[in-house]
Amino acid sequence: NLIQSRDFEFNMYSPKVGDRVDTLDTPSMIADLDLVEANIKKLMDKLVPTGLDIRPHLKTTKSAILADKMVKAGAKGGCVAKVSEAEVIAAAGFDDLFITCEIIGPAKVQRLVELYRKHRKIRIVVDSEAGATAIDEALAKAGIDEPISVLIDLDVGLHRTGVLPGDPAMTLAKHVQGLKHLKLIGLHGYEGHLQHLHDKEDRKSQCLQSMETLTNTADVLRKAGFNIEVVTTGGTGTAEFCATVPGVTELQPGSFIFMDTDYRNAVGTFYSNSLTILSTVLSKQGPRSVTIDSGLKSLTTDSGLAECKDPRYTYGVLGDEHGSLSWEEGTPALSVGDRVEMVPSHIDPTVNLHDFYYAYRGGVIEEIWPVDSRGKVQ
Ligand code: PLP
Ligand code: MN
Repeated sequence: NLIQSRDFEFNMYSPKVGDRVDTLDTPSMIADLDLVEANIKKLMDKLVPTGLDIRPHLKTTKSAILADKMVKAGAKGGCVAKVSEAEVIAAAGFDDLFITCEIIGPAKVQRLVELYRKHRKIRIVVDSEAGATAIDEALAKAGIDEPISVLIDLDVGLHRTGVLPGDPAMTLAKHVQGLKHLKLIGLHGYEGHLQHLHDKEDRKSQCLQSMETLTNTADVLRKAGFNIEVVTTGGTGTAEFCATVPGVTELQPGSFIFMDTDYRNAVGTFYSNSLTILSTVLSKQGPRSVTIDSGLKSLTTDSGLAECKDPRYTYGVLGDEHGSLSWEEGTPALSVGDRVEMVPSHIDPTVNLHDFYYAYRGGVIEEIWPVDSRGKVQ
């Protein structure tokens, strides 16, 4: 029957630990384990001594195994963007999770309630009274008395979500305080608009301004008697600056573990590009041009085009399934069947296009990590 034939299909191709990377079909997402481990170590060496909690954003890796590795290296829990991500990462055994997107609408709220029924470490953000009230009512209706930990989402300049500092933050805090099934624990303020500023001094000074907004609001709320234990913020481009600000308690960088060309161009090479999309040359299209099997379905283009790891070859998009590589005269020609590695331009949406990471050392697959929350956009 249909189900059996699907199982059969899934089992037909299954690379194994111990296989050589050379034997993988393409496109495949491959991770250089030495570089992944070095990126984690660099981040922890830099940030753990500050005493702040590191709660890496798992919107990048979408992987419970990688979340666990980061905790073993010094992190404390993880962030996810969406409830559906939290569902699968928690089900995979990693449930110390902070959901950083607002949870709005009856379907999503109900999913949160069911998630929280099983996983009491889940924490959430709110930026509206209506949003907070709906969650409170759903928990009450479900008979769950233990209040869920809530952070007020503050707009620190990104203008994406979050209440404004001052009266709006105070009013929402009062509202949350009045809800029996919500427990206010802190303030969340993400300065996403600053992560890719190329000028380091500019990035730093604008970040410190955002941090002032965040920590001042935390102080004002505390003085008014609200419980603000957690003040959480920061990404790969700003975490080191956030960490210098008294009052910030938690950092949530994500991309540092793999990096991408967009981040490398902005913040430099302190963290290495540790992930590539292994691709195959399918067709020769001219003396200095070939077509590879990685197009829009394997590499995203929102932040510019991916780059070939070997910089002598220039990538172009040829459609959903195809890309081109071209080169200057004098560069060794690529031939049909050759394999190349492509460095993503934006890591998070690229990871979301693939089922597995093949993590290798010395050309041999050492670990295989499922992209657990692939496609979990709800
Ligand atoms: N926190 C929030 C709320 C985010 O949306 C993101 C990324 O978009 C991050 C942290 C992680 O930032 P990065 O991937 O730039 O390290
Ligand atoms: Mn991103």
